[in-house]
Amino acid sequence: MTSSAFLPAPPKTRPLGKSGLTVSGLSWGMWRFKGNDVAAAAALVDAALSSGITLFDTADIYGPDNGEAFGASEALLGKVFAGNKGLRGKMVLATKGGIVIGTPYDSSAAYLTSAIDASLTRLGVEHVDLWQIHRPDVLTHPQEIARTLEDAHKAGKIGAIGVSNFTAAQIDALAHFLTVPLASTQPEYSALTLGPLVSGELDQAMRLGIAVMAWSPLGGGRIADPRSERERAVATALKKVADQYGVSVTAAAFSWIMAHPANPIPIVGSQTPARIREAADAYKVKWTRADWYAVLTASREEPLP
Ligand code: NAP
Repeated sequence: MTSSAFLPAPPKTRPLGKSGLTVSGLSWGMWRFKGNDVAAAAALVDAALSSGITLFDTADIYGPDNGEAFGASEALLGKVFAGNKGLRGKMVLATKGGIVIGTPYDSSAAYLTSAIDASLTRLGVEHVDLWQIHRPDVLTHPQEIARTLEDAHKAGKIGAIGVSNFTAAQIDALAHFLTVPLASTQPEYSALTLGPLVSGELDQAMRLGIAVMAWSPLGGGRIADPRSERERAVATALKKVADQYGVSVTAAAFSWIMAHPANPIPIVGSQTPARIREAADAYKVKWTRADWYAVLTASREEPLP
């Protein structure tokens, strides 16, 4: 007999781990946020906020991938803030640091302290709500990282502390040394990239009460524009459910991520206002186990045992 019960609907707002902050079930990301048109940039921020997104994710390294300078994406957001004084207070602002071009990673106390100060300057703010180590620097002891970030937290420069692209063991080690709870982890996770499902990261997040932010939730856009047989099979399995609820395949892709009991937060990467608004359709979708596992099976390209 096929189970026809629906999985619990993902919440529209949720705690950011044990940080005390409340965030939306979807986030908006600024990896691709670029250019000199501050009005157009402000329209993107407005599209996200007006569709219920309160968690905004940037990083100091966002810029070079768009042919711009290190820090350019943060600086553009800083210009948007400068033009709208009330805006900063309407969002939970997250950034990241620790990637150094040519190194490539540095989480030493001296570097992270300077990186946090530089991000605050570019953003034109005194405090970011969530500060994340962008990629693990295996040459810094987690105790040193913990002390550095706690000092920035005590100084009021950063609120919650998070990580990105850490293994479950690296998360465990940092959480062990932190006296402030580790609020979030940010792995790549989508119907095309299943790593956190099998690495133990989602299970660890539920055990420790850590929020999961899913980067590249559309596989960098490939779910919307599938090229390989595997990508087409995943998009087809998502479309079956999307059609039932009159939403786009991309909205179904976000909701597939959110349906996991860890309630991962997809970071919407679109830089098109209409597509940012449309992401909220993800809340309209209900998943049966059979439909959810059909997407997983299409992605795995082999049946589950
Ligand atoms: P994504 O949502 O997987 O991909 C976004 C891309 O898909 C955009 O180029 C977008 O184009 C395109 N797209 C969306 N809907 C489409 C549609 N219907 N048809 C065709 N193309 C479509 O996310 P992402 O940008 O790769 O990543 C999202 C966020 O994750 C980033 O902004 C960043 O905050 C975070 N991130 C973190 C890390 C990390 O290491 N922590 C790494 C990468 C990303 P349009 O803009 O034209 O809509």
